[in-house]
Amino acid sequence: MLLQRKAKEIFEQMLKPDFYYQNILQININQLKSLKVEAIICDLDNTLLNWESNKISPEVKRWLFEAEKAGISIFILSNALTSRVNQATEELDFPVIARAFKPSKKYFEVAMDILAVEKNRVAVIGDQLFTDVLGANRLGLISILLDPLSEKDFVGTKLIRLVEKKLKKCLELK
Ligand SMILES: [Mg+2]
Repeated sequence: MLLQRKAKEIFEQMLKPDFYYQNILQININQLKSLKVEAIICDLDNTLLNWESNKISPEVKRWLFEAEKAGISIFILSNALTSRVNQATEELDFPVIARAFKPSKKYFEVAMDILAVEKNRVAVIGDQLFTDVLGANRLGLISILLDPLSEKDFVGTKLIRLVEKKLKKCLELK
């Protein structure tokens, strides 16, 4: 029993997001400010961008600019290919790292160095438990999970989505 409880505890520490919203527009920028967030490390595919599209919607762009205006830096950290990330973000003036191999800590740390921000001032926003939330939680950053903008994704991600749906129930997110 003790072992089971310990396993559950570790599981939650690693995979449970601090906050969960349906989409980025539901995140209250003032609430981020009150949590003393100074920077957001944000996923791209299915977080800011519908997987089937290569354009970020005007509403999402507006949210990002509002956050920036409120003094929160934005950094885009994506596991996608450089060409896709560059194309999708070319009209935005945010720093970007593609092929980040999340949940590896490496590029989260590079991003924080570039942003020159303390760990406890960073929120990570993304749509995947095993890349975005796990990466954030491993480093002790604030983790914010969103529902994916599209059901479509890389073939390899489909199985992960099924697992994620079950996990979200276990984590009492749904
Ligand atoms: Mg994603």
